[in-house]
Amino acid sequence: MSHEEFPTDRPAVVTCGLPYANGDLHVGHLRTYVQGDAYARALRRVGQQTAFVCGSDMHGTPIAVNAAEEGVDPEAFALEYHEQYAETFPKFNVEFDNYGHTHDETNTELTKEFVRSWIDEDHVVEKEIQVAYDPDADQWLPDRLVEGTCPYCGEDARGDECDEGCQRHLEPGEIEDPTSTITGNPAEYREREHRFLRLSDFQEYLQGFIDRLEGSDNARNQPREWIEGELEDLCITRDLDWGIDYPGDEDDEGGEDLVLYVWVDAPIEYVASTKQYSERVGKDEYDWEQVWKVGGEERHGTEWDDDWDDEAAEIVHVIGRDIIQHHAVFWPAMLRGAGYNEPRAILASGFVGIDGKSLSTSRNRAVWAEEYLDAGFHPDLFRYYILSGSGLESDVDFSWDRFAERVDGELVGNLGNFLYRSLLFAYRNYGGTPDVATSDDVEARIEDAVDEFETAVREYDLRGLADVAVDLADYGNEYIQANEPWNLVDDDPERAEQVIRDCVQLSKAVAVLAQPVLPEKAERVWGQLGEQGSVADVPLETALERPPAEFDEPTELFSQIEDEHVEALNDQLRKRVEAAGEDDESEADTDEDDEGDGMDVEPLADGRISFEEFQDVDMRVGEIREADPIEDSDNLMVLEVDIGVETRQVVAGLQGLHDPDDLPGTRVVLLANMEKTELFGRESNGMVLAAGEDADLLTTHEDAPLGTKIR
Ligand SMILES: [Zn+2]
Repeated sequence: MSHEEFPTDRPAVVTCGLPYANGDLHVGHLRTYVQGDAYARALRRVGQQTAFVCGSDMHGTPIAVNAAEEGVDPEAFALEYHEQYAETFPKFNVEFDNYGHTHDETNTELTKEFVRSWIDEDHVVEKEIQVAYDPDADQWLPDRLVEGTCPYCGEDARGDECDEGCQRHLEPGEIEDPTSTITGNPAEYREREHRFLRLSDFQEYLQGFIDRLEGSDNARNQPREWIEGELEDLCITRDLDWGIDYPGDEDDEGGEDLVLYVWVDAPIEYVASTKQYSERVGKDEYDWEQVWKVGGEERHGTEWDDDWDDEAAEIVHVIGRDIIQHHAVFWPAMLRGAGYNEPRAILASGFVGIDGKSLSTSRNRAVWAEEYLDAGFHPDLFRYYILSGSGLESDVDFSWDRFAERVDGELVGNLGNFLYRSLLFAYRNYGGTPDVATSDDVEARIEDAVDEFETAVREYDLRGLADVAVDLADYGNEYIQANEPWNLVDDDPERAEQVIRDCVQLSKAVAVLAQPVLPEKAERVWGQLGEQGSVADVPLETALERPPAEFDEPTELFSQIEDEHVEALNDQLRKRVEAAGEDDESEADTDEDDEGDGMDVEPLADGRISFEEFQDVDMRVGEIREADPIEDSDNLMVLEVDIGVETRQVVAGLQGLHDPDDLPGTRVVLLANMEKTELFGRESNGMVLAAGEDADLLTTHEDAPLGTKIR
């Protein structure tokens, strides 16, 4: 990568894929916004000036159709959801600096300006194409108004998107066997004149862009085949009443009935929203043109000079992986064609599943944003679960059981426990921070954590970011446990003072490092330490500065989640899915089939590891000697696994999936150099490998001796 490391001199902007103002938000949507928010906070944490902006996507056929069904006008329909979103995001501590929408004046004007630039630069062409038409309804059928078969993969697809199959964007006229969604009748293809952005003008530019692009591997790899192949022109107009009018010049006849395709004005909202923010706070405070335009104008055109890299703009897009093509192919061409800067990074995350199955709003198998909040859980718990659970590109499974288990184990048992016991001990014995210096070892460990945080920001590693503070608390717990200061107070008061001094410093560092992920909880710890102001405003190095000499008695940061609470939420979800299934059993069945075909299987990883990295993974042949369910847990068992040289205690999620009486004698594969962890108070020293949600245990087919290394 040729980019400078964060922080740079230029202001940055972090954006999230726009929510489509057509329905309630669920945990699948929230993943993107939580990621964007945490990353924007982390950038500020390392000293990068950053705006975090977004807006609602108001146009397109689904809104037009749903509004017509309800007999309201599409603007009123979409605005209602827009307002709901604007209220919901802060409840998850997702704090946009500006939250606009695509139908507002700023975006409407800016979109027309973009299109006029493309026309001026001769990137727009008119073409007669075949467009689906419903003769009974006497109307054109753009996008979602037509369904049929994807010409690329043969799956069922909607007019502009193969959302069940290959995920490709489809141009008007491409879908095969078109059917009107208005009447259900077969549609006809009729000739119609439309406007196109000539993407082939940008082919060479895009090939260079994709090499420069930072962020997740999938955002770079997935578009390569499209960019290497023949780039088809992008149809930018639609026969629809709802949208931004096509702004053709005076000589352009026939364009006046057309609106712009929703994917033209939607990403331009990133720019419009940044501009609104800049206008509100003043250009001295934050200059949107420094981000989007300065540099872009002189690079305008279809060529690229390698010397420009150094001044690249700090634009980071956080999206779901279903819209990579729009962001890594169409969007940079749109920006460049209008003389704007290209994105520096795209972070494309996997989907969110529910209880091991794909999230399905039609089956009501979803956890809704409101539902989470109504259950009374703190927003920071959700943020932690979604950020730390798996890597950016992987799918995340949300289940109330696992949510409770991870909150109880990692936040209550580890992070919260460390902070509370440390600060309480410090308060009771010293009235605050003991008056000695932090020991060298502990200071070095905090410095390492600060480095890890900075690395995670530079590598766009959101899971790494979420793990830094929890790992540090884990170290703190081990440190306090090993030194037992409660036994030292009388016998060795100096040593006790030192240990507690170290723990208070670790607590402060945890607050500073956890802030992007747990913003509200970190603020509370900051207050408990007697610190002034907001933890959000201090630089990263503050983690190493001495906390105030005096502070008040601390309170506990988190509380355990009751089993009954989890059971009630599981019941609620199950009943809802059943009710939705009864209403439309045939659709439910198809849904199930679709999952078997694709949605449930995680996509292959884009990133490769080296043979050396693989050699670091120490897997051994083992045999289960004992298996005991953990009574307080719904799904965990404690196993004793014999790996020849020793017997390991391993906590595994096998309860309910395997009979504990059948397990002794089963040969398994054990990941022996897995970090030790503690679950429900039981140490887990290794990991038994298993496939899928049913935990199908891996084994060997012959009789390799116990302890044999797997290569
Ligand atoms: Zn397809």
